[in-house]
Amino acid sequence: MPFYFLGFASGGPGSGKGTQCAKIVETFGYKHLSAGDLLRREMSSDSKYGSMILNTIKEGKIVPSEVTVKLILREMKSSDNRKFLIDGFPRSEENRIAFEQIIGAEPRFVLFFDCPEEEMVKRVLCRNEGRVDDNIDTMKNRLKVFEALSLPVIDYYAKKGKLYRVTIFSFNA
Ligand code: UDP
Ligand code: MG
Repeated sequence: MPFYFLGFASGGPGSGKGTQCAKIVETFGYKHLSAGDLLRREMSSDSKYGSMILNTIKEGKIVPSEVTVKLILREMKSSDNRKFLIDGFPRSEENRIAFEQIIGAEPRFVLFFDCPEEEMVKRVLCRNEGRVDDNIDTMKNRLKVFEALSLPVIDYYAKKGKLYRVTIFSFNA
């Protein structure tokens, strides 16, 4: 495995991680990989995983690590860049362990977009990107999954001193 310089970006659904990562890479020379975008792209290709990914996303659950890690590694290997900012992954301890075992390395830093829940709900329901999961029912599940499975990953990196928290305020709440 070649040398990689990795950062992760985490945060609840609608916390702005994708938007901010796109801006960060403009200045800092990383390649931005959005795990959600890679899954949506795979879903729209004629992949054997297509319907499984669609159903998982519709329910707001987490796609098996094996599939997501494979898509991320494929992008990394096909890029000339060695610096990656990976957004929306890992979403669970299982994701984290699967990725770190395969890559044989940990991220150098983890950004956490810490956003009030009512702000996330408002953004997701207003963004009109045509996503199958941007509805109130799926959103409720995504928030539960984030709290139950993704927050432990954030705690893990906080304990390792790798976490950088960005606090988002809601101005018109
Ligand atoms: N997803 C997943 N594993 C990942 C990233 C995304 O299973 O590593 C799925 C999951 O169902 C999630 C959806 O894709 O709810 C959308 O993720 P994304 O990060 O694009 O959106 P956000 O949650 O930030 O709105
Ligand atoms: Mg996103």
